[in-house]
Amino acid sequence: MNSDVVRQVTGLRETVARLHRELTRYDLVAWTAGNVSARVPGQDLMVIKPSGVDYDDLTADCMVVCDLNGTVVDGAGSPSSDTAAHAYVYRAMPEVGGVVHTHSGYATAWAARGEAIPCWLTAQADEFGGEIPVGPFALIGGDDIGKGIVSTLSGHRSPAVLMRNHGVFTIGRDARAAVKAAVMCEDVARTAHLARALGQPLPIAQADIDSLHDRYQNVYGQRGATGRPATS
Ligand SMILES: [Zn+2]
Repeated sequence: MNSDVVRQVTGLRETVARLHRELTRYDLVAWTAGNVSARVPGQDLMVIKPSGVDYDDLTADCMVVCDLNGTVVDGAGSPSSDTAAHAYVYRAMPEVGGVVHTHSGYATAWAARGEAIPCWLTAQADEFGGEIPVGPFALIGGDDIGKGIVSTLSGHRSPAVLMRNHGVFTIGRDARAAVKAAVMCEDVARTAHLARALGQPLPIAQADIDSLHDRYQNVYGQRGATGRPATS
């Protein structure tokens, strides 16, 4: 790695370590489950959480740098057991700069039923542009999870997929956007669950979903700061 890449990697180690604290802050993970990664811009490299390290002990120094085949390039520990899935997404979706995985409770309950979350909330239309889709059942190891994520999210507005019987994977233009999508996915999943438990939630007209999504992605807040990568 030349000095510019080393500088980029050093910054991303800090960013990825700090973003893992958001997973515990929003109660999205148990024990050592869950992981965040970031692509090193312009390089075939990513920074990802080490496997099996307590969240309290995750520092910039223990983050692992891998190439986009999941081979360790820099770092003392072994990378997350979900590294192959993250790497597959970065190889297949060049516009993606961050990937997050959790087993957050409400969203994973929808995944356990293999049920997409219908768009019953304006906040969901804003962030996800419609339903949050379900991906296929896939075993860990190899490319099956990565393939399932990419095949479900390619051409879809949602930056989140509920992998069947497993949990949530989110993508973003950078790691922070992917973490935001993971937080919002759980929030939407919880409210949708509560709404349906109490009765039949009301649908939102497709034209209104389109309008909400367009406004949120293009007008609300800092332009380009939210949601899916710009090319999707
Ligand atoms: Zn998992």
